[in-house]
Amino acid sequence: MTEAITRSASCQCGQLRIEVEGEPLGVGVCHCLACQRRTGSVFAALARFAPPYHVEGTATEYLRRGDQGALFRFRFCPLCGSNLFHTEEGVDSSVSVAVGAFADPAFPAPSVSVYDCRRHPWVALPNALKSFDTDPG
Ligand SMILES: [Zn+2]
Ligand SMILES: [Zn+2]
Repeated sequence: MTEAITRSASCQCGQLRIEVEGEPLGVGVCHCLACQRRTGSVFAALARFAPPYHVEGTATEYLRRGDQGALFRFRFCPLCGSNLFHTEEGVDSSVSVAVGAFADPAFPAPSVSVYDCRRHPWVALPNALKSFDTDPG
């Protein structure tokens, strides 16, 4: 048995951390307006991981209902405000972690792009990325 790779992501002050195991189930970017406001950036980059995962530190939570009715629970650092990860209510099969929080430029590249209808026109995406106008669900 080979030892699974472990990655650690943290907020900018280091108070809140999440450790995930194995390769991501998927990596994507989201251009939706909620992600733009949430991150302060013009798109969000997220990686989904299967459990188990391990969280250290204190998180403040924010619940938001997505366009398709799903309820998402966002966790961010109460000290520095970084958005670190979120889960979907009632879905235990994955956790979505902000790619930037790994602070690893060698992190696997995204393969999907969602909410392309909200993409800033100057944001050019690699051709290899599969794009969806909204959220394919
Ligand atoms: Zn912090
Ligand atoms: Zn989004």
